[in-house]
Amino acid sequence: MNGKVNRRQFIKLGGATMASFAVLDLGFDTTVTAAQVRESRIKGIKPITTVCPFCASGCGLVVFSETDAEGNFVRVASVQGDPDNPINEGNACAKGSAMFNMREVYDPQTGEQMINPKRILKPMYRAAGSDKWEEKEWDWMYEEIAKRVKETRDAGFTHKEYLADGSEAIVNRNERMAAIGGSCLDNEEAYLQSKLCRALGILYLETQARI
Ligand code: SF4
Repeated sequence: MNGKVNRRQFIKLGGATMASFAVLDLGFDTTVTAAQVRESRIKGIKPITTVCPFCASGCGLVVFSETDAEGNFVRVASVQGDPDNPINEGNACAKGSAMFNMREVYDPQTGEQMINPKRILKPMYRAAGSDKWEEKEWDWMYEEIAKRVKETRDAGFTHKEYLADGSEAIVNRNERMAAIGGSCLDNEEAYLQSKLCRALGILYLETQARI
């Protein structure tokens, strides 16, 4: 060993040191070792590696999940960058690190843990002119989207255009629709979306990804 401390060892060392200080500061039994404290804090916590869902950087994350005695999921305790992932090498931006908010929050009054009430789990539909959102099934939503896309495309599709010299040109243009991609799309999804849009004759293609 050359005496150098690598990133992983540094994080472990720092975590153990901070746990020791925390115990001393709070006046707990100091005969309890930092390792014991650490063990009790991570009891029942299982690390699961995954990929951040938010943007196409595709950072690797470690989700620390608590499971019960039967191995059933109880809660997400923490989310951190995966140090073994070659893309982000343990880093994660504020958005990726806050991924656990997608799942749970703590009730500020009772401290009770619950599913994030702001998380929408079913498609929501608001009819034209209505001020109310209705919960719908996925099948209903897919049908409705497909129907409206078809109607809109057919109503405004330009197949041919006449040029200045009077000759005809096939343009297959749909100027009634636009599409916007998202930073959470990966290469393959972006490719498929662009193919679909071209097939529909859409000209106005944009993306909100600016990273
Ligand atoms: S949102 Fe942040 S953590 Fe997630 S993939 Fe993008 S850069 Fe990485």
